[in-house]
Amino acid sequence: MTKRAYNFNAGPAALPLEVLERAQAEFVDFRNTGMSIMEMSHRGAVYESVHNEAQERLLSLLGNPKGYKVLFLQGGASTQFAMLPMNLLGEGQTASYVMTGSWAKKALSEAKLIGETQVAASSEADKYMKLPDVSNLSFPDRTAYVHLTSNETIEGTQFKSFPDTGSVPLIADMSSDIFCKPFDLNQFGMIYAGAQKNLGPSGITVVIAREELVSESPKTIPTMLRYSTHVDNNSLYNTPPSFSVYMVNEVLKWIEEQGGLAGIEQKNMKKADLLYNAIDSSGDFYRGCVDPADRSLMNVTFRLANEELEKQFIKASEQEGFVGLKGHRSVGGLRASIYNAAPYESVKALTDFMSHFQKTNG
Ligand code: PMP
Repeated sequence: MTKRAYNFNAGPAALPLEVLERAQAEFVDFRNTGMSIMEMSHRGAVYESVHNEAQERLLSLLGNPKGYKVLFLQGGASTQFAMLPMNLLGEGQTASYVMTGSWAKKALSEAKLIGETQVAASSEADKYMKLPDVSNLSFPDRTAYVHLTSNETIEGTQFKSFPDTGSVPLIADMSSDIFCKPFDLNQFGMIYAGAQKNLGPSGITVVIAREELVSESPKTIPTMLRYSTHVDNNSLYNTPPSFSVYMVNEVLKWIEEQGGLAGIEQKNMKKADLLYNAIDSSGDFYRGCVDPADRSLMNVTFRLANEELEKQFIKASEQEGFVGLKGHRSVGGLRASIYNAAPYESVKALTDFMSHFQKTNG
């Protein structure tokens, strides 16, 4: 068997070994067609069946909520930061943003290029190491939508529940926690996520939106940037990232095999508990960055007493086969990304390494 790295990369990130092996088995000859899925027309029946299956699986894992469209887009979640206001923020309207950290800031700054914006809540004063209270959000009349980032990948915060925004659509960037646990899609007008953490490889962005929000887009924006173009053409207006769509379908099958989102959540909680307990029981040798109430199941951020010791930790971890434990360059420190596909054994190996490192450096 191949020796797998202890992969804690933030994205692209670890994929399930079973999925990689299945993809390998049908890499050269997909379903007896004599070609790879990458070599076939996206207008043919074989590719289209994979494309449609992936869309159906996304909704079925969410309990088949009514009235939603699944779109497969390109340009990453970063393109959604602009495409969203281009499509949904009209003249005389305001878009309201919940400010939780690095990715929320990027989303807001793109929206500012398009129209009027407002901040509904912010935890900037806490350096984004906790989440703002969103139980009583206030936003102006004529608010087009409220946007939040369900999981801040860099800081390591995650919402446990979502605000009720009444008739104003709630829109979430779920790039780093989509499908890590069950959630009620009916609370949202739209969600979006780059696939490269919990859903598959990079190259595809999943958008799930209420039909009425995306079926008509302003004709003044370029064709490729209108949601309606992709709704009208079942995300086949232009050539889709066909191999990425295939991989997403395989990852979704794997999630089904884990017991769906509820099964995945159990596994994720076990891994996160193990790691946070190792941090909390270290007598302050390791220090969690985020308020315990708002800690992420996906991105575990922590620090050591000083940067020198952090450097030593990273170096020693790399020598032991751990990958991706360096915190994001904008915040420093350490970060272990433990997405759905990170095996429990990797997290156990990490906590063993952490306790060994503390013994030799504490
Ligand atoms: N939002 C969040 C929460 C992210 O973690 C990322 C990527 N790390 C992005 C947006 C940007 O995604 P992409 O690179 O797909 O544009």
